[in-house]
Amino acid sequence: MNDVTFVDSHLHLTAKEFDADRDEVIARAVDSGVRFLVNPAVDLADSRKAVELAEKHASVYACVGVHPHEAAKATENDLRELEELSRHPRVVAIGEIGLDYYYDFAPQDVQQRVYADQIAIAQRCNLPIVVHTRDSIGDTIRITEECIRKDSGWRRRDAQRPAPRGVFHCFSGDLAAAKKVIMMRFYVSFPGIITFKKSELAQTVAAGVAMEDLLLETDSPYLAPVPHRGTRNEPAHIPLIARKLADIRSLPVEDVARTTSYNVYDLFGIGDPEPLNAA
Ligand SMILES: [Zn+2]
Repeated sequence: MNDVTFVDSHLHLTAKEFDADRDEVIARAVDSGVRFLVNPAVDLADSRKAVELAEKHASVYACVGVHPHEAAKATENDLRELEELSRHPRVVAIGEIGLDYYYDFAPQDVQQRVYADQIAIAQRCNLPIVVHTRDSIGDTIRITEECIRKDSGWRRRDAQRPAPRGVFHCFSGDLAAAKKVIMMRFYVSFPGIITFKKSELAQTVAAGVAMEDLLLETDSPYLAPVPHRGTRNEPAHIPLIARKLADIRSLPVEDVARTTSYNVYDLFGIGDPEPLNAA
């Protein structure tokens, strides 16, 4: 499968876990067929780092945003600077943003306000969003829907069907929630969790939605797939996750690679659309 290439649609190369060997990690990913790497950020400082990394490496693209864990620390000025940074040519989305009621590091009302404020930034810049939601899928869908209603021109491509508005990454909801997310014109994305033994829910959702609605991610340095579970994750492991998805869907891994790479192009504008009659 030499000519099969993948995209890691969500990872944190800026994390301190990669301080010692970041360039080697990127080189290993490229050697493993991972052509592009999309690096979301968790706060303003991390957003600046993500943009710097994307300036240095042709295969890396940045997202800028404030993660729900950091929502209580985000100032109005931070959000203004994020908006400025989001106009950088290597920035492909606002993220990762959303709600996390599992850890609850910031009060829920603050998380909700900072989430909606950042969707508004994405709408002003016509960028997609990268959404993190944990134990909060109901509120996340509700706020996202409200924001779409306020600005229905966001990502408008033609009258029939808007361009994709974003991705719900590391999706942990059920199939009904996934279908609601897809109806709002979002992708759902799965990391190495689908390779774990106890991941029936994620596997059911990954089998139950269309390939046209799926992305792959490592979420490195977290969530290493089997057989690396428990160690530092890295983007070179994307083919393991792609192979598992191919198993779940009874498809050749080449199809999974081609479709998910096209989906990344559709969402972030990265890469090229594959010719329709590609082998
Ligand atoms: Zn993440």
